[in-house]
Amino acid sequence: MTELKMKVVKTTSYKRPDIEKGYTNQTLHINISDAAVSIKPVTKKMKEVFIGGKGFDLWLLWNAVKPDTKWNSSENEICIASGPLGGTPVYPGSGKSIVTTISPTTGSVIDSNVGGYFGPYLKFAGFDALEVQGKASGNVVIFIDGLDKKIQILETSGLPGDSYETSAILTEHFGKGKPRNISVVSTGPGAKHALIGCLNFSWYDAKRKQTRYKQAGRGGIGTVFADKGIKAIVVRWDTVTVNTNNPADKVALKEVARMHSREIVELDPKQNEMSKIGTTHLVTIMNDHDLLPTNNYRYGRHPEACNMGQEVYRHIFDKGFDGCWMGCTVACSHGVKDFVPITGPYRGRKVFVDGPEYETIAGCGSNLGIFDPIFILEMNFYCDAYGLDTISVGTGIAFAMECFETGMINESHTCGLDLSFGNRLTALTLLHQMAEGKGFGQIVGQGIRNMKTIFNKDYGADKAVMEDIGMEAKGLEFSEYMTKESLAQQGGFGLALKGPQHDEAWLIFLDMVHNFMPTFEQKAEALHWFPMFRTWFGLCGLCKLPWNDIVPEDNKDTPEPAKVMKHVKWYADYFAAVTGRRTDPDDIISMSEAVYNFQRIFNLKMGFGRRSHDKIPYRAVGPVTEGEYESRMERYDNQLVETHKIDISGKSTQEKVATLRKIREKQYEKLTDAVYKRRGWTNDGIPSVETVKRLGIDFSEVLDLLESHGV
Ligand code: SF4
Repeated sequence: MTELKMKVVKTTSYKRPDIEKGYTNQTLHINISDAAVSIKPVTKKMKEVFIGGKGFDLWLLWNAVKPDTKWNSSENEICIASGPLGGTPVYPGSGKSIVTTISPTTGSVIDSNVGGYFGPYLKFAGFDALEVQGKASGNVVIFIDGLDKKIQILETSGLPGDSYETSAILTEHFGKGKPRNISVVSTGPGAKHALIGCLNFSWYDAKRKQTRYKQAGRGGIGTVFADKGIKAIVVRWDTVTVNTNNPADKVALKEVARMHSREIVELDPKQNEMSKIGTTHLVTIMNDHDLLPTNNYRYGRHPEACNMGQEVYRHIFDKGFDGCWMGCTVACSHGVKDFVPITGPYRGRKVFVDGPEYETIAGCGSNLGIFDPIFILEMNFYCDAYGLDTISVGTGIAFAMECFETGMINESHTCGLDLSFGNRLTALTLLHQMAEGKGFGQIVGQGIRNMKTIFNKDYGADKAVMEDIGMEAKGLEFSEYMTKESLAQQGGFGLALKGPQHDEAWLIFLDMVHNFMPTFEQKAEALHWFPMFRTWFGLCGLCKLPWNDIVPEDNKDTPEPAKVMKHVKWYADYFAAVTGRRTDPDDIISMSEAVYNFQRIFNLKMGFGRRSHDKIPYRAVGPVTEGEYESRMERYDNQLVETHKIDISGKSTQEKVATLRKIREKQYEKLTDAVYKRRGWTNDGIPSVETVKRLGIDFSEVLDLLESHGV
């Protein structure tokens, strides 16, 4: 291995402020074009309106970019923030970082919520948020040293290309014998050559003596990072206790944290066993309810799905505590020790695989028609090491496979690769090609929206068919849920601000499995409340899983079981205990509503954020092909006859597909109308002047923007 060299380009010393009720009250701005470092104050108004985390990121990014800023413009920023509750070691799930940038695949603002220690350490080092702007000429490392109170910009050489070794080497280098004090943000070669790059956020697993990481996966944030010429951002901090975040009421904080932690410890073994099997239990649940994406979302179940479910990973995961932040009793971040890849640069070497989680299993497994848990581990390992988003990789390859199987593309286009569903070697070859920027993998790495254009323009593939089966919206690949039978989740994906990612509105389980929202009105109301509540976690630096993945034993008997109101109340108490701000559950929704609407308006600023941008491919709404219809013939026939009173006697499958399509497309539009109305938006999906005034985001730039769109 080449010798690691670091040349200091600039060192800036700073005064680290005392943390005041969860805030440092300052943010850090670094322009790597000229190594300029500056510190900005956080105003009272900024805290009141934007709260922290994603809210701060959005405000900083809004002020940095212009409507014509592209993802690779120098002024585009990567913003990273924790939040006022981030860094609490006793409350489960309190270590998240939220990252925003202008996305290479959507052209608009993207956000991603990620574990690891970076966000809390950044705050304890002295900053509520970090903005990185500009472009560097080489392999730049930014080092934020909260202990020695200095920020260094370093030029490096001798670091490996991938994230797996880079994060381990930098942890050792900067940790100076205390690796637990370090968190590294890095990416790999895939992010350089593809548009679907992710960022890895590390923490050091002291028991296993292993640097671990979690991914900020969505929308190509890693690609922006690589384009900026940044090799890594490293932060150093030391011990964390309840006092480190200096909460307003330590006693109240400890009490509410104790109740939530204790409940998880008692009930997780009886409910999902996440501390043993992570989110792999979802494979079985989704498959049982016909919701597991299979062969590019054509089908929702497969007899071999049990081969890659929780009972398999229960035995493969390395046993031990797996919290991606200190003291998280859910402890769901499992991994596999001593895995030996059979392809690529790590072939034959023992590695640690962080994961897989449900999304990776479904995306790189069933959606490709592959049900092999060992293959999924290899895809998982290389996606992370290469800095590629497992969801976009999986959904993108699935689309290419369907185009291949239907003859829209062939081996002359794929450089001889057989892209049939189920072909493991091809999937791995494409992944390695994405990392190298070579072959057909280089095209798949541009994402589905670009693939559709290339396949149509260069290979003559049918545009309309690809629009139906290409599972992207707003330029972002769908995450791994089959939404055909859940109108609520169709809205959950289509009306999400950044594109079809489940973190904003994951209603499929509540809609299809629990049947908590049978009426149309209930679905529209859910598409108001749930995105607002879920947004709040990103404002505070929290993980959503402890909220509703493990629920109180009497939850089902409460008036609104889907909301898990007992936990919502605990979160309000938690916020009040840290910030000293009186908070009840309704306040949580209004905090989020302001930021949520601001993000919608941010989309408008970047040329998006209107009704036409909320369309989804028909594959997400209903059966595109006769085969899909026939796989659920009884269900669809019943719906046409019983629900819609249509006489189907003598109709061909093709005619029934067309009839159902008209009905379902109309339902989606009707749902869109209802949701816009509930959110206080115009019929074109733009927040009204009355709404922005009510929420306190009626800044002159916002009002001017609305006016320019006739609002
Ligand atoms: S619930 Fe899982 S993902 Fe969330 S903070 Fe805890 S360990 Fe990390």
